[in-house]
Amino acid sequence: MQVDTELYSGKAKSVFTTDDPDRLILRFRDDTSAFDGEKVEKLARKGIVNNKFNAYIMEQLEKAGIPTHMDRLLTDNETLVKRLTMIPVECVVRNISAGSICKRLGVEEGLELNPPTFEFFLKNDALHDPMINEYHIRSFGWAKDVEVAEMKRLTFMVNDVLRKLFLDAGMLLVDYKLEFGRYHDKIVLGDEFTPDGCRLWDAETRKKLDKDRFRQGMGDVVEAYEEVAQRLGVLID
Ligand code: 5GP
Repeated sequence: MQVDTELYSGKAKSVFTTDDPDRLILRFRDDTSAFDGEKVEKLARKGIVNNKFNAYIMEQLEKAGIPTHMDRLLTDNETLVKRLTMIPVECVVRNISAGSICKRLGVEEGLELNPPTFEFFLKNDALHDPMINEYHIRSFGWAKDVEVAEMKRLTFMVNDVLRKLFLDAGMLLVDYKLEFGRYHDKIVLGDEFTPDGCRLWDAETRKKLDKDRFRQGMGDVVEAYEEVAQRLGVLID
């Protein structure tokens, strides 16, 4: 599969067209950003680790019946995916309080949320991804009601699959963000699932093993991502 032209360059990934109009290539870069791009660094090996990790998670989700855009790994840091028409909405599930919900609601970090909570955010860097609700999605036509229902259903299905997967490897899935798109009128999971877009804690010590290590200047960021991959048995090299 040939890399054609760059379609889009995000903060951590670049997206390329290919000779197949139905396929795109995702290139996972070492760039790492936080606070809407205010803090940016290159972390060696992160692109490779995230590419392999994402492929493994997408494969597990497919096996569980969740449609994803994954086609196949191409190189150490590139994956071939189906070309989706993305819906500009982020779906977040939280099992434990952390991050923005603590600031927004004035709650402490580490509270178990039972049942898990769900939030929508608008994907818009200039507006700092504001929280939105289903009425906004409907009124502004970002997605149809049936699509909203499907995104919620699939996001909670992902929670059932991944909570268990991580717990069996001694980790707590605190929260995560998913993005969906349309592929021939079907709602399909797109973007990525990596420690850049979720929170993972060691189940015993609650040590952070995700991008909060970068956000909070704790160091050993890629080392933590590799530890997560190793615990799941994901081969990186
Ligand atoms: P929070 O709302 O607490 O900042 O984020 C909730 C969860 O969604 C965290 O796991 C966080 O990493 C992820 N998340 C939310 N927005 C983004 C985003 O724009 N990019 C990435 N990579 N992850 C996000």
